[in-house]
Amino acid sequence: MPAEVLEQAAAEMLNWPDAQGRLSGMGVMEMSHRGKEFLSIYEAAEADLRELLAVPANFKILFMQGGGLAENAIVPLNLSGLRAGNGHGAADFVLTGSWSEKSFKEAGKYCSNHIAASSKADGFTAIPPAASWELHDDASYVHICSNETIHGIEFQSLPDLKALGSKAELVIDFSSHVASRPVDWSRVGLAFGGAQKNLGPAGLTLVVVREDLLGHALSICPSAFDYKTVADNGSMYNTPPTYSIYIAGLVFKWLKRQGGMAAMEARNIAKAELLYGAIDATGFYMNGVARNARSRMNVPFFLRNEGLNEAFLAGAKEAGLLQLKGHKSVGGMRASIYNAIPLAGVQALVQYMQEFERTHG
Ligand SMILES: *Cc1c(COP(=O)(O)O)cnc(C)c1O
Repeated sequence: MPAEVLEQAAAEMLNWPDAQGRLSGMGVMEMSHRGKEFLSIYEAAEADLRELLAVPANFKILFMQGGGLAENAIVPLNLSGLRAGNGHGAADFVLTGSWSEKSFKEAGKYCSNHIAASSKADGFTAIPPAASWELHDDASYVHICSNETIHGIEFQSLPDLKALGSKAELVIDFSSHVASRPVDWSRVGLAFGGAQKNLGPAGLTLVVVREDLLGHALSICPSAFDYKTVADNGSMYNTPPTYSIYIAGLVFKWLKRQGGMAAMEARNIAKAELLYGAIDATGFYMNGVARNARSRMNVPFFLRNEGLNEAFLAGAKEAGLLQLKGHKSVGGMRASIYNAIPLAGVQALVQYMQEFERTHG
């Protein structure tokens, strides 16, 4: 989280002031979600996000709950019947890591789930080229995880399904790199992401969906998860996660002050190049992901001598560098260098890595 955002939230905790500085007499958690104060917070958050991500007018922005994992069910409940009506629809999945694998498995409860491509045999270290994907005619959509948080794999450009001769919609799980770079909406039917990696606190799930994809939910879809119901009610069919939306709104304003997506992308490229450069510089550290698929946000790396892992983590903690232990399914280390991590944070990590190598190499 950007420190500026947390400081502002702390200052406004008990008595929220509007944009003109007029005090409301209450904190955001105490507001009615239908009151004019919260509605102004909501509308500003949506408008700022639309501007930041350049979301076209024919896409709805939905503020939902349930996280990325709930969307693994909500997406097939809404979209798998696009072509098959209310019968048993189908979807294609490109498996590039554990998150897309989870999405694939969950969708199997609601539709035929096909694997269009998988890099599992290579230990999820690359993205199968789009031209090699086996797209199925009955699939309503093709699901990709555009940034695999655990394996550190990122699509550097989104596939153009139309150019591949497909009529399916592209669905992207952009949970862990949303707002780190621009999105090419001309290629996307729906994007979803939990807020907690790059947008704000847990509890808020962002869905951006093209309008013509609304209204095709299976009859078993829970009303609160039917995108059309959510959209028709301005994300207030049920009470939305108000405080998380407020904080995300402060993050959107912070992102705009940083210069928006072009500036964030440039900063994230610089951070990633610095870190991968340090990993590749000597044989002491290593990252096994294909260079054209390396994530700018989540950088897994290994010490060649795994016996030094504990010493590396202990020294890092002493240097104020936290949460570097890799995901348990992959091991090693992982630096998640989300938007709120400044270049100086990555410089500090690289300095520590070089120092550790000097003393342990
Ligand atoms: C964290 C994450 C999720 C899971 O989100 P929850 O909010 O825990 O359900 C899904 N997809 C990706 C790519 C993630 O990084």
